[in-house]
Amino acid sequence: MAKPDCCSFCGRSRREVSLLISGMNGFICDECAEQAHAIVLENMPGSGRQGSSGLNRNLKSLPKPREIKVFLDQYVIGQEEAKKSLAVAVYNHYKRLLQPASKDDVEIEKSNIIMVGSTGTGKTLLARTIARMLEVPFAIVDATVLTEAGYVGEDVESILTRLLAAADYDVAKAEQGICFIDEIDKIARKSDNPSITRDVSGEGVQQGLLKLLEGSKVNVPPQGGRKHPEQKMIEVDTKNILFICGGAFDGIERKIGQRLNTRFVGFETDPAKKNIDRSNMLQYITPADLKSFGLIPEIIGRLPLLTYLEPLDADALQRILTEPKNAIIKQYVKLFEMDGVKLEFDEAVYQYIVGKAIEYKLGARGLRAITESIMMDAMYDTPTSRTKKLHVTLDYAQKKLAKANMERLRVDY
Ligand code: ADP
Repeated sequence: MAKPDCCSFCGRSRREVSLLISGMNGFICDECAEQAHAIVLENMPGSGRQGSSGLNRNLKSLPKPREIKVFLDQYVIGQEEAKKSLAVAVYNHYKRLLQPASKDDVEIEKSNIIMVGSTGTGKTLLARTIARMLEVPFAIVDATVLTEAGYVGEDVESILTRLLAAADYDVAKAEQGICFIDEIDKIARKSDNPSITRDVSGEGVQQGLLKLLEGSKVNVPPQGGRKHPEQKMIEVDTKNILFICGGAFDGIERKIGQRLNTRFVGFETDPAKKNIDRSNMLQYITPADLKSFGLIPEIIGRLPLLTYLEPLDADALQRILTEPKNAIIKQYVKLFEMDGVKLEFDEAVYQYIVGKAIEYKLGARGLRAITESIMMDAMYDTPTSRTKKLHVTLDYAQKKLAKANMERLRVDY
């Protein structure tokens, strides 16, 4: 029988520990619980290299690129090019994992992807959505926290820590996973001459990242952050990990424009090429533009698939508001439905919301904030009123939004 109010593992009393957790027949203190957790991690089947390949599929049962795209279509509006590239890359990633031990010398190499598109056009959404349908571990990491070893920030290897966590520390599974590195543009070289100032979050990080992208055995700190000598490392081979990078690359349109202009000034005679669509310069992006933005050529070479996201026009924004499976409007309808209230909107309200999002340059992210401001009073009042139906008219929306401080929304984004 356990002593009352004492840890059943170390015997210390409640007064001697910070936290005592009671179980059916005993207690455990915070320190013993932590120790137990460490022991579990160390001895879990996945902490060695004996994990399974993870894929219970054959080539026939794999989701085909077209099917992957149809799935993406349910959640992401437009962005046809990016969806296609992602679908093909993910399908090929599966194929690579399934390739039999090579009889001939042809080995399918991975092709990591880089997606370029303004903020709020759906890069993260695409990555998250594709993660929903995957059977391999998937992690999203932010490149802004990475710095060179020795400086405040996180080591590049911590990217793999997230993937390991997503794979429940099964190394073999993590080694087949997909990693989305967001804000890759934030580690661009700050100037053309790397020696002018210290660039601890730029070129040095790119060199570190290169190791991961090209496929090598990397020592990963299981808890992430900075590596330190006493820490037990887990070795991860990145050869089969698919990396998808995303970034806004603010200002890259100018570099694309400059490149196109210099080309056209010469002896270019093809008139078709002179019809540049200035509203969507990203469609002309090439690896050379990434280089002039500050990515090192080695990194660019390891991201052979370059795709772009379209800017979102009014039409796209309105579709985002109403069409996706979890569209903002659908979410509000559901919220009210739970209180027994039928919520309806006039079509003009959608146009009004989109117009305001464009006017205040809030993009797709602003749609939710604007809708929230319009619906706030109703959400406050209806649960305690007898209302069974709420019809949102343009007049109602305008009045409610006039009360809200749009400038505040603008600062937030
Ligand atoms: P990014 O990563 O490109 O900065 P996000 O993917 O985080 O942008 O998009 C922000 C939000 O805007 C998403 O959560 C989503 O609600 C909405 N959104 C953006 N683009 C789209 C799109 N193409 N289709 C549907 N929703 C979108």
